Amino acid sequence: MDGTMKSPTEIIHVKTRAVSCDGGAEPLGHPKVYLRIETGQITCPYCSKVFILETGAPPAGH
Ligand SMILES: [Zn+2]
Repeated sequence: MDGTMKSPTEIIHVKTRAVSCDGGAEPLGHPKVYLRIETGQITCPYCSKVFILETGAPPAGH
């Protein structure tokens, strides 16, 4: 096979800064990891999913 296998970047909108990712139901599943959005978005180091913090979310901490 010489086709270019590029997986499209999946973008997930979330409302909390603390998110978890396990790769979803795709074959690219990975051990569940917890990520913390610090600057509006974060990319999962395992599956490259992009989590974007929706505007209007409460600030971190109390
Ligand atoms: Zn992931």
